[in-house]
Amino acid sequence: MIVEKLLLHVLIVLAPILIHSVFFSERSIGRTSYLIGILHGFSAALCILFAYEGLGFFWDLRYVPLVLAFLYGGLHSGFIVLAAIFIMRTFVGGDALLYGYLIAILSAAGPMLAGKSFNKTEKKWQRVMWAVLAAFWAVIIQQGVVLSYMTASNADIVYTAEVSYFIFILGAIQMLGSGFAALLHEASIERNRLQEEIFRAEKLNTLGEMAASIAHEVRNPLTVVKGFLQLIKADDKKGNLPYLPLILSELDRAESIISSYLNFAKPQLEIVETFELSNFLKDVTQLLNPLALKKGVTLTCQAETKIILETDRNQLRQAMINLIKNAIEATPESGSVAILLSVEGEKAEITVADTGIGMTKEQLAKLGSLYYSTKEKGTGLGTMVSLGIIDAMEGKTVYKSQPGIGTTVKISLPYTAKENAGTYDPF
Ligand code: ADP
Ligand code: MG
Repeated sequence: MIVEKLLLHVLIVLAPILIHSVFFSERSIGRTSYLIGILHGFSAALCILFAYEGLGFFWDLRYVPLVLAFLYGGLHSGFIVLAAIFIMRTFVGGDALLYGYLIAILSAAGPMLAGKSFNKTEKKWQRVMWAVLAAFWAVIIQQGVVLSYMTASNADIVYTAEVSYFIFILGAIQMLGSGFAALLHEASIERNRLQEEIFRAEKLNTLGEMAASIAHEVRNPLTVVKGFLQLIKADDKKGNLPYLPLILSELDRAESIISSYLNFAKPQLEIVETFELSNFLKDVTQLLNPLALKKGVTLTCQAETKIILETDRNQLRQAMINLIKNAIEATPESGSVAILLSVEGEKAEITVADTGIGMTKEQLAKLGSLYYSTKEKGTGLGTMVSLGIIDAMEGKTVYKSQPGIGTTVKISLPYTAKENAGTYDPF
């Protein structure tokens, strides 16, 4: 009986979240807080209206909307629900009216206090836990106030036991309802966030493409001007034009800025050449060795198999440097970064493994998105550029990471030939 009624209340409690997520978007936070308050206030009022009357008390889930409003809507919406509870409770009347008020106020204190920790954590499960805890707090308050009411009115023991049973049922369903409602809230927040991210990504994409085409157009006249200036410089034997080298070097700079921008916006394989991968990797390792030494990290490269690639060597170098640099930067002193080359089926596989700080699942998910960086002076571009380059080479990048243990990046690239007993030997 009480169970059926309370399960119905669970539906009443979930309704505002569903309504909110179907009909309203999360964009206008200011208004949303009132909206959450009003919707949850309604459901609290409905709970009281359809309460189960038994053993001289009203049994319902009115505190679930209260908890949720305080946590997900903030103080404003919390107080709106509290007011709704007061009004409805007064309207219903009964002997224990004052106790009803008291329970409502004390129950509101729980989520109000939990609000700070709740807002601080970004983890979905922790937030759901806080909601369940706040509901638990309300149960304790109800239990305490009801029991003291009964002690004051000298209730007999059988009656007290019956009431305790009801409180237990109510408490269990109240916590369950809160947890479930919080999960729904989280799902709706997540959906809105995703929508916003897609929106932003689309905007960035068009912007990026536009900028890339402009940059491309500007580069051509620059190259022409540079060519003519070089001719003038060659003619100017007497050195009458002392500022020419300066002009040329500035032009070079402008050109390289445009090139790297184009690279970033849309990696293009411009100079496709044939080269050998193991020596290439050894060169890159050597290039980064000073950085590793400075950090006290051992950087090793194990690349014995000779593999021929046909692609843009400079771009691949850029991609590898970014990834290896990240590995070195993530690794504390006396750790190691190992680069490994192997052949896996039709692909050359380059592994960059570090014993660094690693990444959590959430961090891994963000990796490679624009401007994502956890470093003080980071740009959050390196990984994105690398992934773009490898993608343009029809390669694949797979990250595996464990916080505190390290990160492994596996890059597989299609190759044209490899050193194979007697069949191919260009070395
Ligand atoms: P930046 O290096 O400028 O911060 P990146 O795009 O290269 O930008 O990297 C983004 C973020 O990804 C880094 O700030 C770091 O938190 C994380 N990251 C990348 N590679 C690793 C790695 N090997 N180990 C741990 N964290 C990494
Ligand atoms: Mg980096």
